[in-house]
Amino acid sequence: MANIGIDLGTTNSLVAVVMSGKARCLLDEGGSALLPSVVRYEGPNPPVVGRVALDEAPQFPGRTFSSTKRFMGRAPADCREDARIFRYRMDDAEPRFVRFLCEGRGPVTPVEVASEVLKTLKIRAVECLFGEPGGAVITVPAYFDDAQRQATKDAARLAGLEVLRLLNEPTAAAIAYGLDRRKDGRFAVYDLGGGTFDVSILDLNDGIFQVLATAGDTHLGGDDFDRALAALVVPDLAARTDAEARTVLAAAEAAKRELSASDVATIAGAPVTRAAFEAAIAPIVARTTAACRQALADAGLTPADIDAVVLVGGSTRVPYVRRHVAELFGREPFSDLNPDEVVAIGAAMQADILTGTSQLSDDLLLLDVIPLSLGLEVMGGIVEKFIPRCSPIPISASQTFTTHADGQTGIDLHILQGDRELARDNRSLGRFTLKGLPRLPAGIPRIKVDFLVDADGILRVSAREEFTGVETTIEVKPSYGLTEDEIEAMLEASIDNAETDVEDRMLIEARVEAEGILAALDKALAADRAMLMDEDHAAIVAVAEALRALHASTDPADRKRIVDLSHELDAVSAGFAQARIERDLTLALSGRSADTVGAELGLTNDGTRVTQDPEKAHARP
Ligand code: AMP
Repeated sequence: MANIGIDLGTTNSLVAVVMSGKARCLLDEGGSALLPSVVRYEGPNPPVVGRVALDEAPQFPGRTFSSTKRFMGRAPADCREDARIFRYRMDDAEPRFVRFLCEGRGPVTPVEVASEVLKTLKIRAVECLFGEPGGAVITVPAYFDDAQRQATKDAARLAGLEVLRLLNEPTAAAIAYGLDRRKDGRFAVYDLGGGTFDVSILDLNDGIFQVLATAGDTHLGGDDFDRALAALVVPDLAARTDAEARTVLAAAEAAKRELSASDVATIAGAPVTRAAFEAAIAPIVARTTAACRQALADAGLTPADIDAVVLVGGSTRVPYVRRHVAELFGREPFSDLNPDEVVAIGAAMQADILTGTSQLSDDLLLLDVIPLSLGLEVMGGIVEKFIPRCSPIPISASQTFTTHADGQTGIDLHILQGDRELARDNRSLGRFTLKGLPRLPAGIPRIKVDFLVDADGILRVSAREEFTGVETTIEVKPSYGLTEDEIEAMLEASIDNAETDVEDRMLIEARVEAEGILAALDKALAADRAMLMDEDHAAIVAVAEALRALHASTDPADRKRIVDLSHELDAVSAGFAQARIERDLTLALSGRSADTVGAELGLTNDGTRVTQDPEKAHARP
């Protein structure tokens, strides 16, 4: 059984397979490799998928869905603008993920739409291969986050496909050009499609691929060229009826393709020259330059460091775009392969390699990076980073935590994605509670939390209490994901706010520590006030009250005073603590239980970090 490679695109999708050592795209009965990613629902009957659904879309606007990749793994709140542009009505009763209202049937999700596209490609593969395909490698944009990747996997499962792995689109393009055989190098993949633009910088090191950086614009592509070209002939396009505008845009699109090969074309009888077209699209193409510079800067590279540039996407057929890319990177881009097919071809090559009997290459190790840091919220609403941004995947990290309150039987784990210091400024990916902890004094339980991001970029978090073995795991299927724009916005914010974030974090850490000291002291005084001379008691209380007055401060300027007072309190109460410990140890040696002694010792943090009590979790700022 041959494995297949699938490019599940925003505009078009393709399926490819390696036959006799060569990767090729499978064609439909009309001889086309491209399947428009468009689905029209027909009530209880099977949906119409592909070219027909696309061509007839204007007649069935309420039940035809295209460009739904933009909505995969996202919440309605994250894509209202896209819904407005594509005129989809979302089901507001479901805030966690997108559901489109659809005429003649219940709501449909982007995952279901994608699964219809995948089913159609699978049928194509069955017909061409005379049998069921093996597993599938499916490509996703490099910036897709956990939720978007998970949604893609769900769609494949719904379509009855076994996903061998998700592969980043730029990596697939590099594989298609055989760049993996060079062993080392740095490559730029410039992907300009119909509606989206992505640029990725890849590093190949000893046969291992990493995505060093990605940038782009989710609303930039050939459609913008069509509008710019149409506006040359029909300047008041926006004022025309929908049907008129569609006709003019279709004519402009055809003229644009013609202009890739000749110097003049006509739109609605009016001639347009290639020079006029190039002048019209220059500002659009210039926007891709900014993204390329950003990606290079993120990767810490200059154009001279790039060993090869690969073109992907139908719009890179435009000669002006090619010239522009060549100028930007100072070298001619690779363009031998069909830019529409290159991603599917690379996916098929990777799928073939995964059969283990490939003639193409030995096993190829592919690594990608996570776009934003992953971490956990800890006491005080601070983020403890587990996996920093741009870490190559697969990757795992673990840390040990303990409880904050005596007798705490559960801890709330709040998983976050982002690069800001405070939890509230990052994106929440999910929460879960580890329950059934033994009733122990604060600071005694040892809870090991593991983060594991697999090769497909899916995050699994597990927590285990080490003494009792109580454990729980979740696969993070976040209710929504981050868009590329959001990732950029969050990164910008984390850079802009780096200084104040660190100050806030330090203040909160100081406050949490002060709270811990005060709580332990209160407990000790309640139990053993009698062990203190009056003047020692007065000295301790004076410092404690000064600290108590400040410990809820939100003014970063108070941090130093909080830290100083905490140290002072430690110092003035050191004798008291020492006396209590000695007394308790004597008790312990005389056979009292460790729990009771632990509680009486007022043990707090043992150097590991403290997570919050679930009961208190909702009360945090
Ligand atoms: P993709 O999303 O990669 O399938 O790219 C589709 C975009 O490529 C659409 O905007 C097409 O109009 C554009 N396109 C396809 N062929 C050509 C061509 N020969 N010249 C210019 N643009 C093209």
